Amino acid sequence: MRAAGQPARMPLATSYIEGFAGTVLTPGDDRYDAARAVFNGAIDRRPALIAEATDARDAAAALEQGREERLPIAVRAGGHSGAGYGVVDDGLVIDVRPMQRVEVDLAARTVRAGAGLTWAQLDAATQAHGLAVTGGRISHTGVAGLTLGSGSGWLERMHGLTADNLVGATVVTADGGVVRTSAHEHADLFWALRGGGGNFGVVTEFELALHPVGPMIVGGVLMFEWSRAGEVLSAYRDVMEAAPDELGGCATLHLAPPAPFVPGRLVGEPVVTITVAVFGDPAEAERLVAPLRALRPAADAVGPMPYCALQSMLDEGNPPGLQNHWKAAFVDELPDRAIDGALDVAAAIPSPFTVVLLQPLGGAYARMDEHATALTHRGAKWAYHALSLWPDPAATTVNRAWTDAFAAAMTPYSGGGAYPNYVSDDAGDRVRRFYGAETYDRLVAVKDRWDPHNVFALNQNIRPSKELS
Ligand SMILES: Cc1cc2nc3c(=O)[nH]c(=O)nc-3n(C[C@H](O)[C@H](O)[C@H](O)COP(=O)(O)OP(=O)(O)OC[C@H]3O[C@@H](n4cnc5c(N)ncnc54)[C@H](O)[C@@H]3O)c2cc1C
Repeated sequence: MRAAGQPARMPLATSYIEGFAGTVLTPGDDRYDAARAVFNGAIDRRPALIAEATDARDAAAALEQGREERLPIAVRAGGHSGAGYGVVDDGLVIDVRPMQRVEVDLAARTVRAGAGLTWAQLDAATQAHGLAVTGGRISHTGVAGLTLGSGSGWLERMHGLTADNLVGATVVTADGGVVRTSAHEHADLFWALRGGGGNFGVVTEFELALHPVGPMIVGGVLMFEWSRAGEVLSAYRDVMEAAPDELGGCATLHLAPPAPFVPGRLVGEPVVTITVAVFGDPAEAERLVAPLRALRPAADAVGPMPYCALQSMLDEGNPPGLQNHWKAAFVDELPDRAIDGALDVAAAIPSPFTVVLLQPLGGAYARMDEHATALTHRGAKWAYHALSLWPDPAATTVNRAWTDAFAAAMTPYSGGGAYPNYVSDDAGDRVRRFYGAETYDRLVAVKDRWDPHNVFALNQNIRPSKELS
């Protein structure tokens, strides 16, 4: 895969990288196949070099070599990009996974997180102090890609997106320089990193604000029969649109798994599941969950649990290596007819691994200043994320068609805005629509300054203006 703007490749001169302290893998190395594998099993790319960078100096050295050799350059952390942006055929992968440093500053209530951490690792380190920052709902997702592309999680109504909590970053820029950025240092770059994805450099360290969370919270799932889906979703909408920030979660449409809490008659059937995540005063939790319990679920698995257990609760249903196709959009309002349209399509979900998330927004998410980050759409009350996963490549046509049909059913209720992290195809010219014209133009101006030759093109790409003209 060679993105627009990448220069033609010259023959690879060497696998040795001057000044590089990490490991360089090439085809034939024992770990090469494991190192090039990403979450989406449909992606099978063979890089010329995988440079496992240990710090900013390594990333800069690898970048310089890649530019000299005119290789397409991918930057890889957790490898969960649906489009597989972290790996590239015949090019250089700068793999930041060895960057594992994590340092909690209790006085400042911040954490400095190496770019190679997963959410499981970062949550474990911060929860040791009863602190957390909004993180992904699957614990093996990378902190880096998730933060740069938004960062939506159970805590978002309470504490905003992960990117909203970014207070600083160390970045290797396209010219090989290493800069520290924050609201007061290279503020344009800092703004763009909060949602603009991997377009602006290799981030080697993130500094994130922390909040008191748990370690015990009240969470889990309430499951409902499909015959009651419309009634339950309408009621859920009404509860969440009036709920305090402390009540988080989402509604999910999926096929019931054979889990111990699921009644046998529901296994394999379409169901609505409400995931509940209550933060703040535990004494209040029962009161906040009561209106959802009053909907009379067929299965109730909500109770006290460690925050880290909530964060990994969905891991088992989302294994790496399956085929993936995702669609997502913001939904300003969720009228009953939108719910009916969603349910008509979702009744025929083709894969037991597929989920549609209907995410209530609001709270701290909605209060964030629209201009402080590259993430707009703060007024939308809902977002949907249709995450289709299936094991058999032969079933691709049917699963893709179903996902696209779901998106089409939601189109009348969405203005076309989405966070690119949630879209698994290369969005090309649609990226502008995802961000909205004003934010996109501002991102282009930052790209012109920090990466005018589009060295970092393997992402939902903000193209520099010289490529647009
Ligand atoms: C099962 C699953 C569940 C998910 N759940 C959520 C969720 O709850 N909330 C949410 O917001 N998103 C979620 N996502 C989407 C996820 O946030 C994005 O796919 C994200 O980009 C993954 O980041 P990564 O580091 O794992 O992936 P990678 O593929 O390694 O990287 C993703 C992108 O970020 C760039 N990048 C990675 N590291 C760096 C770096 N150090 N510097 C610069 N650029 C870099 C890459 O080049 C690539 O463009 C989920 C994805 C999956 C597969």
